[in-house]
Amino acid sequence: MKFSLGSVLAISLAGLQFLAITIVVSTTYVTSEKAMLELARLRLAEAGKNASQHSQSFLKPARETAELVSRVFESSVLDVEDAAEVEKFLFQSLQADQHLSGLYFGDEAGNFIYVMRSSGPGPFRTKIIDVAEDGRTTQLIWRTADFSVVEQRYDPEDRFDARQRPWYESATKERQSIWTAPYIFFSSQQPGITAATPVSYPDGRLRGVIGVDIEIAAISEFLANLGISENSSALILNENGDVIAYPTFEQTAADGALDFDSIASFDDPVARAAFAELAANGGITVTRETLSEFEYRKNTYVSLVKPVLGKDVPWTIAIYAPQNDFIQTIKDNRRRNVWIAAAVSIVTACLGLLLAELILRPVRAFAVRTALVSQGEALASQPLPGTYRELERANKTLIDEIAQRREADAKILQLNRDLSHFSRLDLMGQMATGLAHELSQPLTAISQNVDAAITMVKEKPDPDQELIGILTELDEHAHRGGDIIRTLRGFIRKDKGESKPFDLNALITQTISLLQNEATTNDVDIRFARRTLPEVIGNRVQLAQVLVNLVRNAIEAMADADSTQRTVTIRVEPKGDHAEVSVEDTGPGVSPGITLFKRFETSKTGGMGLGLSLCRTIVENNGGKLWYDRESLEVSRFCFTIPFQA
Ligand code: ADP
Repeated sequence: MKFSLGSVLAISLAGLQFLAITIVVSTTYVTSEKAMLELARLRLAEAGKNASQHSQSFLKPARETAELVSRVFESSVLDVEDAAEVEKFLFQSLQADQHLSGLYFGDEAGNFIYVMRSSGPGPFRTKIIDVAEDGRTTQLIWRTADFSVVEQRYDPEDRFDARQRPWYESATKERQSIWTAPYIFFSSQQPGITAATPVSYPDGRLRGVIGVDIEIAAISEFLANLGISENSSALILNENGDVIAYPTFEQTAADGALDFDSIASFDDPVARAAFAELAANGGITVTRETLSEFEYRKNTYVSLVKPVLGKDVPWTIAIYAPQNDFIQTIKDNRRRNVWIAAAVSIVTACLGLLLAELILRPVRAFAVRTALVSQGEALASQPLPGTYRELERANKTLIDEIAQRREADAKILQLNRDLSHFSRLDLMGQMATGLAHELSQPLTAISQNVDAAITMVKEKPDPDQELIGILTELDEHAHRGGDIIRTLRGFIRKDKGESKPFDLNALITQTISLLQNEATTNDVDIRFARRTLPEVIGNRVQLAQVLVNLVRNAIEAMADADSTQRTVTIRVEPKGDHAEVSVEDTGPGVSPGITLFKRFETSKTGGMGLGLSLCRTIVENNGGKLWYDRESLEVSRFCFTIPFQA
């Protein structure tokens, strides 16, 4: 299948344009994708930092509070034995920091004072366990923010023993501030952790332990509101690989047993894919912030892990977000732009086709014209249809080429014609040589016989003068005939012949008498305006041939045209150093289709078209010129010159 130049141009144009737009779109896409991914990483890092700071804002004050309360208890500022005083101090400390959910002090004897936030009947609740020799009492008091009692009662069923709780055990074991692992708080049933600090007697013995509770739900809530991206998620993992805080955290351990999900069995598959590896070796040891990428179900995600605090609280913040959250918009844009590019390309292709059609129209017209010119149906010289400079140049070259081939064709034709005529001429030459040879013998015989006859007549006593005259003229004609034959032979042999001075008037008179018979037959009157002239020089016989030819052409022209007036006038005139002879007739003139003096140009059925060119050659060989006088309108006149004898 072949396409037109126009459609190839248009399609190529549209294709290139599509390619260009697609490249630009893709480059822009890659650049913006890079920028967006960089933004994603920044957002993740920022979120990690926020989560870390936020977690610390929970943890640090809790620990500081525990240590502060411990120092106060160890000093003599507060009477630790006075439960009411201790409760009030703990109440004030709890109110000072809204992140704390409860504050308590348990001692080695089993006494316990616990102040916590409550959901009712008052906003705060105190639990006081008093262990005496006669047994233990557990008192519950609900208070308002200004410490006034809302409700109070005893709980005889209570069996709580602080000394057996993990926070108490760890703090007494370490004899320094500790953080517990996350666990479910006894009272609120909420997951949380406790900062615990031991309290000593002045002698160094352990007196008890201060505990400060933080509910982790608040951290989860914070993580839920981090707002990194639409499908992102942030978790906090403890050192065992348990997920202790995540946006949708809901603790449901109704039996009080804490059971955090391990990251390996966490019900967020993306989080599993991202972070399960971290806990693969039994524990998580993330010591520095790390950003990475991972694939899950053919989607790429960016993730960040980061330690929350350090050794004391060995938690890890883990955040992930799908890349698409950041680059989906530009992906959509790219798709749209490619469609736009395709649409623009189609429109361009259509416009291109139109344009190509407009551009190609003159080219096609030119092609048609060229075809016509090559088939000879139009002339290359005909005006070119409106077109381009390049085509104009091509046209000029074409015309020149055609012309050159024609100038060349004509030459070949002429050469062919010349060749065939030359071969005929050659044949004629051979025939003429043969003829001349054949005729010279009878002519010689005639001349000898005439001479004998003249001698015989003259020897008679009364010679007949008229007979002698006739015989003498006969002798002259026989000699002239012989001369003509010799000249013809010489001419055919390219013999220049003899050049001698002679009387031009006499030659003309003789020529007229030679042609008289022919003239009379054709009803032609030959006139000769004689002038006295010096002798001319040349080959007399050849010039006689010229005269014969010119006068015979004149007779034939008038006879063929059936002219009413039939006169041939021969004039001689001295012109400087030469004589000018003119032969004019009252015939129709040279027909327009004839190129005079051109060999083989003839209007006659039996003509050869060689006479005039032969005459011109003879005249020029004899130092003269021969021409046709175009200024003579009424008559046709041929002229030639012969030089005078110097
Ligand atoms: P040919 O006589 O064999 O045709 P010429 O060379 O003598 O060859 O003449 C060429 C042609 O010139 C003639 O055929 C004729 O058409 C034209 N021509 C020559 N002389 C005359 C004349 N006097 N008047 C008109 N036409 C002439």
